[in-house]
Amino acid sequence: MRSAFSGFLRRVLLLFSALACLASLCLPALAEEDELMIEEIVENIDLDAVVYGDVPWDFPVPLEDMEPDYVRLANKHYLLEKDFYAAPLVTVKSRKADRDGNNTNGGMLKASGSKMQLQETCCQALVAMSEAARQEGHLLYLKSAYRSYQTQNTMYYNRLKRNNGRDDGWVAMPGSSDHQTGLGCDVVPRSWKNKSMNGKMGREPECIWMEAHCHEFGFILRYPEDKEDITEINYEPWHLRYVGPAAAAYIMENGLCLEEFVDQLQAAIDRFLSAGGDPKLVEAFIQTPADASDGAQS
Ligand SMILES: [Zn+2]
Repeated sequence: MRSAFSGFLRRVLLLFSALACLASLCLPALAEEDELMIEEIVENIDLDAVVYGDVPWDFPVPLEDMEPDYVRLANKHYLLEKDFYAAPLVTVKSRKADRDGNNTNGGMLKASGSKMQLQETCCQALVAMSEAARQEGHLLYLKSAYRSYQTQNTMYYNRLKRNNGRDDGWVAMPGSSDHQTGLGCDVVPRSWKNKSMNGKMGREPECIWMEAHCHEFGFILRYPEDKEDITEINYEPWHLRYVGPAAAAYIMENGLCLEEFVDQLQAAIDRFLSAGGDPKLVEAFIQTPADASDGAQS
């Protein structure tokens, strides 16, 4: 895997070589003004763009553009505590509209009448995304949102029972569900509102739209098709996870899954700390797999 720092260096080098190329092309006719302009551009490239204290932060997303809870990983190896969720949770309202179809209450179209909750910022972002989708002719329905540890526990053991005790990867074990964070949600096209979900949904225009645009609202596709070996969860075109706009743009533009992002982030934290960076700045972002900690769970 290419490190974020080498990616950054490569971009700087590319920019320099592009400028050198431009300069040599224009050299015969290069007016003083143009020379000045190129000098200004080169001066404006700050090699240590992000520095905390005097220690460089060589990760593409600055710390102040991330929230620790928003990039919190939940999977079989990084289990959430029973009472963890990103606060505050709000109840998602059912969408009400005026005569022109404009949303009047900040609500969502819902696939069912059951009560659904999401973390407040995530909920607002989901509504904004759905309104943007609607303007392009895509109706998105919220099918599932926050799930408590206890609810997940019941779902998991019911699934095992139906499946002769075998974990088929469709229901996450308690503590490992993205839905427990309050930042994960299942969003489906109208035609799938009442159908049981599978990977074929990814071919629907609504899902293609979500994959292309969700990061603009701070969401990522949590379980991409080509990352099943890393997420250990089957492809879920409907499952979005709110991580915040900066992290989402980096993840989606580089085709990562959250596990890979967290790995890169932890490596950047290690480099920052070994270069003498202030631990207080990064400690909230440090995530440790449950199987590597004292209270190992199986
Ligand atoms: Zn889901």
